[in-house]
Amino acid sequence: MAKVLEVHELTKSFGGVQAVNNLSFDLAGGQLLAMIGPNGAGKSTCFNLINGQLRPDFGKVVIMGKKINGYFPRQVWKLGVGRTFQITSTFASMTVLENIKMAILSYHRKTKSLFSRVRNLYRDESMELLKLVGIEDQHDRACGVLAYGDLKRVELAVALANKPQLLLMDEPTAGMGSAERQSLMELTTSIVRTQNIGVLFTEHDMEVVFTHADRIIVLNRGELVAEGTPEAVRNNPQVQEIYLGKRG
Ligand code: ADP
Ligand code: MG
Repeated sequence: MAKVLEVHELTKSFGGVQAVNNLSFDLAGGQLLAMIGPNGAGKSTCFNLINGQLRPDFGKVVIMGKKINGYFPRQVWKLGVGRTFQITSTFASMTVLENIKMAILSYHRKTKSLFSRVRNLYRDESMELLKLVGIEDQHDRACGVLAYGDLKRVELAVALANKPQLLLMDEPTAGMGSAERQSLMELTTSIVRTQNIGVLFTEHDMEVVFTHADRIIVLNRGELVAEGTPEAVRNNPQVQEIYLGKRG
């Protein structure tokens, strides 16, 4: 299967702190890869190296076959990368539909097909996306008044508007109740399988990780300590010691 993301020997330090050290992994389309590890393990640094917010000291990131060292976040986005954030990033005063339309407009600007479409098509396309994430009935409400779980679905739709082949999700279920978490991840799984999108996500909730990830990578102090299927990672003694063991 085609790789949407390849990380080779990625290394980044801040002063004396080795935040990410010689990290290598890859991800194919249609797969969900969870990145876990205790606080300070280097997960956010790794995400920021992949999305263009940070430059590596050494190593490289390849997205859809393109080496992105030196790219800015917007250039990475243009390659077809979607992101969702731990803190929601929608425009509170705009309606759900307006938020999605804006995301779709950005996508069409990128592909320069802006003038080949009539404006109303964006509405249909937006409504279709809202239907896909299950909140079309909320389309004319302001994002600021939405329930938290619905807001997360708007964010997912915004990320999907970029027609990504790679989706980066930093704690997608942070702040949600447990049933809501599972249902958002079920939805995400079914969409990425159908659209063949590769997903890299971080997540604190181990139940979400073990239920939904195809593969898991475990970081500790910037280094890869384990990689494999949920079952292999769950049974890895080193992982149990440094991470899962602490949770009893
Ligand atoms: P995680 O997301 O797994 O909790 P981080 O990537 O945020 O881990 O942090 C990894 C290490 O790098 C930590 O020791 C953290 O203090 C350090 N670090 C992260 N970002 C910076 C920064 N901008 N400046 C200095 N140190 C940083
Ligand atoms: Mg973090």
